[in-house]
Amino acid sequence: MTVTLAQYNVLERCQWCPGCGDFAIAGAIRSALTELDIQPHNAVISSGIGCSGKMSHYVNCYGFEGLHGRTLPIASGIKLANHKLTVLAVGGDGDGYGIGSGHFMHIMRRNYDLTYIVHDNQVYGLTTGQASPTSQPGMKTKTTPNGVVETPFNPLASAIAGGATFVARSFAGDMVHLKETLKQAVAHRGFALVDVFQPCVTFNKLNTYEFFMKRVYKLQDAGHDYANRELALQKAFEGPDSNFEKLPIGIFYKVERPTYEDTLPALKEKALVEHPLTGIDVSQAFEELL
Ligand code: SF4
Ligand code: MG
Repeated sequence: MTVTLAQYNVLERCQWCPGCGDFAIAGAIRSALTELDIQPHNAVISSGIGCSGKMSHYVNCYGFEGLHGRTLPIASGIKLANHKLTVLAVGGDGDGYGIGSGHFMHIMRRNYDLTYIVHDNQVYGLTTGQASPTSQPGMKTKTTPNGVVETPFNPLASAIAGGATFVARSFAGDMVHLKETLKQAVAHRGFALVDVFQPCVTFNKLNTYEFFMKRVYKLQDAGHDYANRELALQKAFEGPDSNFEKLPIGIFYKVERPTYEDTLPALKEKALVEHPLTGIDVSQAFEELL
C-alpha cells in the first residue's frame, strides 16, 4: 500500500457541530480511500448543499460543491469526462431524496460507476431542523408542529426497484462498519448507494445515537443473501414495517451489470479528457445537417 491516511487529511478545521455524525462519515471516507490505495489525485468528491455539502472541502482530494440536490449530475459529468477517476457523490436526505430525487431515480438505471453516500439525518440540518423526506411519522419539527403526517421516502427500496446495482446502509456510530461498507461500495463496479444513519445532534432529538444503537442490527450477521432481490426489498421495508424498531444495516442488494461507461464507444480506447481537442474535422457532421 502506498497511500497514507495523512494524504487525505485536511488542515482546515471541520465546521460541523461537535458530536455530529458527519465527522464519522468524513473519517470513514478518508480511511476507505486510503485502504483501497487510491491516490488523492485520482479521487473526486462532488457534493450538494447542506451540512453534507462541506464534505468536498474536508477530504483532501479533488472536490466540487454544486447546487442543492445536484451532486449526482455533477458526479456523472465528472465520470463521463474521465471515467478513470474514482468518483464519490455526497449528499443529504433533504438534498438528495427531496430536491435531487429526479436525478436519483434516473441515475440508477444508467448504472454509472459511482458511489453515492447520503448523510441521512431525517431533517434539513443546515437550515435548522425542518422535516425532510425521511423524517419519521409523528416527529415534531419547526415545519411540522403537530408531527409529520407523510409516509417517509424509502431510499433503499427505491434504489433496489430503480436499478441500483449496490444498495447498502450503515451507521455513523459504527465507524468500522461504515468504513468497510464504503470500501465495498467504492470497489463495486456500478452505481452504489450507501445511505448512512447520521445523527444530527443539534436539531434531531428523536433519531439520536442511542436511538440507533438500540435498533440497528447487521444484515450480514443475520445471514442475509444480498443476491436475492425479493429478500432485499423485504429488508428495505423492515424499518417502516416495524415502526422503526428494527433497522438493518449492511449490504441489502448487490448485482453485476455493465456500467453506462462500458457501453459508450467513445470511451473504449481512452477517457474523454485524453482525446486531443485540436485537428477535429466537424465539416462532415455539418454537411449531414444541411
Ligand atoms: Fe451535524 Fe446537525 Fe450540526 Fe448539521 S446541524 S453539522 S447535521 S449536528
Ligand atoms: Mg438531512
